[in-house]
Amino acid sequence: MTTGVEGSTRWPAITKNVAAFPVQPNLLDYDAARRDFSWDQARQALAGLPGGRGLNIGYEAVDRHVAEGRGAKEALRFVRADGGTRSLSYGDLAEASGRFASVLRSLGVGRGERVFSLLGRSPELYVAVLGTFKNGSVFCPLFSAFGPEPVRQRLHLGSGRVLVTTRALYRRKVAPVRDSLPDLRHVLLVDADGGGEHVPAEPGTLDLAALLSQVDPVEEIADTQPEDMALLHFTSGTTGTPKGAIHVHDAVAAHYATGRFALDLHPDDVYWCTADPGWVTGTSYGIIAPLVHGVTAIVDEEELDADRWYRILAGQHVTIWYTAPTALRMLMKAGAERAAGHDLSALRFIASVGEPLNPEAVVWGQEVLGLPVHDNWWQTETGGIMIANYPAMDIRPGSMGRPLPGIEAALVARDADGKAVINDGQAVLVTDPDTMGELALRPGWPSMFRGYLNEEERYRRCFAGGWYLTGDLAKRDGDGYFWFVGRGDDVIKSSGHLIGPFEVESCLMEHPAVAEAGVIGVPDPVAGEVVKAFVELKAGHEPSEDLQLDIIGFARKRLGAAVAPRLLDFTTTLPKTRSGKILRRLLKARELGLPEGDTSTLESPAAPAAARQDRP
Ligand code: ATP
Ligand code: MG
Repeated sequence: MTTGVEGSTRWPAITKNVAAFPVQPNLLDYDAARRDFSWDQARQALAGLPGGRGLNIGYEAVDRHVAEGRGAKEALRFVRADGGTRSLSYGDLAEASGRFASVLRSLGVGRGERVFSLLGRSPELYVAVLGTFKNGSVFCPLFSAFGPEPVRQRLHLGSGRVLVTTRALYRRKVAPVRDSLPDLRHVLLVDADGGGEHVPAEPGTLDLAALLSQVDPVEEIADTQPEDMALLHFTSGTTGTPKGAIHVHDAVAAHYATGRFALDLHPDDVYWCTADPGWVTGTSYGIIAPLVHGVTAIVDEEELDADRWYRILAGQHVTIWYTAPTALRMLMKAGAERAAGHDLSALRFIASVGEPLNPEAVVWGQEVLGLPVHDNWWQTETGGIMIANYPAMDIRPGSMGRPLPGIEAALVARDADGKAVINDGQAVLVTDPDTMGELALRPGWPSMFRGYLNEEERYRRCFAGGWYLTGDLAKRDGDGYFWFVGRGDDVIKSSGHLIGPFEVESCLMEHPAVAEAGVIGVPDPVAGEVVKAFVELKAGHEPSEDLQLDIIGFARKRLGAAVAPRLLDFTTTLPKTRSGKILRRLLKARELGLPEGDTSTLESPAAPAAARQDRP
């Protein structure tokens, strides 16, 4: 089964001239890299705990660099609200995280016990993650913007033993529900003393700074083994209640290998991942991958703001930038002129993840930032990048690229009910080019999730016929590039066509007035479903009936009447998750007057990311 009108929305390929690159990419020859790769060989690049005692992400990320003489190197550079910076070297991080591990030990927090954070992107968050690993405990980061109920839910589900947070967040979000969290033994406040003023301590909390000053860094890092649990990450909740995905220390082998191939990390890079650690990208690629590679990572303590972001890219001499489609679309909406006057010449690679990346955005990168954007695909469950566009490989705008070395991806046929087709225990694979199937991965890569917390059956259902089924639909072209079609649940069935919202949204974005679009199916007595679009306009365009007809006509010309939206509404804020994903299920529920379901990860309507963009 195919979607839409084949080839009608394909953009010309972006070719690469590797000889002109300032740095030779780690992956030069895709086929050779795949052939020569093995996970065991990737593990060889890791140090392992001294004395062969095991594998610990905290050691790989920081202490290893100190042991090998790189302790003075700048590890994390935090950009504060006023634009000033503060840095932690690898040595500083090793010491601070060692103290944090000591504090956990002194509080009797053991191996496998869960340490949660509810913090902005401050140094304490990074120290807590690494210190938790070094104590052999399990880290679970939460977005600081979560409301009290999502915080309570996750602490409860994850049996949080320790919470690291601020006074204000504790008062507003945790204190009111503390009684219902009997497992939560210790709350560590990073600003217990109120920043110098004398403020009475919150009852039932401890002052983290005081505790850190009373201990020495741990002498011996916990001898965790590769299969020991290291991280608990809740999914974005785009399709329903967030799931708690379990990850183990062995995942660091994948963070290392994917950081090398898909992000092209080299030791001298200044790397900026814009994701918050509350989302898996902000941990796997905002903390672990860059530190394991020994680069300098930028952390912006503030939220998205077009001018601020251009200032950071230029002023911090960022060389590699990992961001998300929603952020790129906001920069596009803010206008190319905002980039003018910023010297982005240090930048050599841009990658994006989290949502389908519209071809328009790929090309916009090339025109405005001087570099195309490289889309890559993965999930909380996969723990690391699975499919990517690489620096040395031509880009086909709109494609997520090709599987990483060590990753076998396929498309599994689905029956009329959307179930994977399994014959004699084997998945039936879709092998014809440009034909849709459910994206599947061969289990066995190190960062694969090892379970959904307390949901054994749900975990088991993700695997069938020898594959991990991702729940996403995709196509593969004749050269092995994968093309995202939509989430299984978002696909629209209209008059016998299966339509992926992404194709329609990308086409709408090519209209000069459209900044962003979300597309759903709404029931129709004749067609089954018809396509409805919700469209945000660029500055300088006003909603009108003429414009509505013009956009629909524009889409019809490109996609054909069967696929183009029949209905179109203007909106100023598409509902999104905190990680920036369009919540199509919410658009649909609101359209049909149905219950909204789990909205714990919804970006607060009072402060949508889009509205914050022009904040002074
Ligand atoms: P939930 O599973 O709770 O519904 P979620 O799937 O959005 O939430 P994440 O694990 O954060 O949670 O997101 C992974 C999903 O994001 C992928 O399955 C895919 O649908 C989408 N995604 C990520 N990267 C891309 C990409 N490059 N192109 C298209 N879709 C992407
Ligand atoms: Mg998911």
